[in-house]
Amino acid sequence: MQKNQFEDTVIAGGGPIGLACAISARRCGIDPLIIEAGAIADSIVRYPIGMGFFTTPELLEIGGHPFVSAGQKPTREEALKYYRGVVRTDKLRVRTYTKLVTAERVGDVIRCTVATPDGETVIDCKRLVLATGYFGEPNLMDVPGESLPFVHHYFDEPHRSFGLDVVVIGGRNSAVEAALELFRAGARVTLVYRGTVFPASVKYWVKPDIENRIAAGEISARLGATVLRIEKGAVIIRNAEGLEEALHADRVYALTGFRADFALFRRLGIELEPGTERASVNPDTLETNVPGIYMAGSIVAGRYTSGIFIENGRFDGDKIFRC
Ligand SMILES: Cc1cc2nc3c(=O)[nH]c(=O)nc-3n(C[C@H](O)[C@H](O)[C@H](O)COP(=O)(O)OP(=O)(O)OC[C@H]3O[C@@H](n4cnc5c(N)ncnc54)[C@H](O)[C@@H]3O)c2cc1C
Repeated sequence: MQKNQFEDTVIAGGGPIGLACAISARRCGIDPLIIEAGAIADSIVRYPIGMGFFTTPELLEIGGHPFVSAGQKPTREEALKYYRGVVRTDKLRVRTYTKLVTAERVGDVIRCTVATPDGETVIDCKRLVLATGYFGEPNLMDVPGESLPFVHHYFDEPHRSFGLDVVVIGGRNSAVEAALELFRAGARVTLVYRGTVFPASVKYWVKPDIENRIAAGEISARLGATVLRIEKGAVIIRNAEGLEEALHADRVYALTGFRADFALFRRLGIELEPGTERASVNPDTLETNVPGIYMAGSIVAGRYTSGIFIENGRFDGDKIFRC
């Protein structure tokens, strides 16, 4: 009978926090295997092209590796280069395009089922660290037409929308910034948001910009509106007056936020608090209620995705691996 691959520690997620956890493990003499569903730091890969971080580079550093950027704040491209360099320098073992599908405790081991480009395989381990982030699962509106090909849940770059009618759905930072960039790249933008005012979390230097563009009629806005459905070439909304309205759209960006893969956590037997979906973890060790399964990074905050980011999640590995 063929034996399953065995690893002391598997880390699911090769984002900044998964990589930082691997460095902490290495410093305790453990050589973990990182399995990553996409490319290294796949969430940053999905950031808009050319995007600048709001965090200064030293706060994005992991494992004490210096992060030098040309400007005061690093760009997406500089961050990708930095995290590639960390993997290379620390010789971290990363298997990209390999996704944790499920895991279960079988006797002394945790049996992980993983999907690879060549099919499913099984890896047994003593310790499983989940650092899977939240950027893989868009919050869907559950309206018809949401998966039509001209509806995008990630904002790539504004250039592609020059001269087009674009509807942006959402009112938080991602949506507001996308609307402004699209407008400045020559798209005719309509912003649809269910709130009647922009939330306080919108960056203080961005808020007056969007409000002034709307007041000047340069960006159309439908605040207090609900999306009813999306059809080829149009977003149908119920506007603040309660009337049904069709907004012409060559392209739609539905930027309504993201959530962790809570279904995966439940499959693993991890208890989640109803409402917040916060996992039951020991705050000192980050071990979940399932012995041997740990959580690190943004997923520890449950639905509150902006509660833990790179600068305050990057030391989680030191709680899990103590030596
Ligand atoms: C547009 C934007 C701008 C941001 N700017 C900043 C900023 O300036 N400063 C800051 O600190 N934070 C910023 N953030 C937040 C930051 O990106 C996250 O806090 C950070 O990426 C969280 O790191 P993580 O390693 O926990 O998760 P992630 O970076 O999301 O990494 C998780 C990784 O796990 C992989 N994965 C998912 N599921 C599986 C699975 N089942 N099996 C295997 N692998 C899996 C994913 O592909 C991903 O690579 C920003 C976020 C966005 C969207």
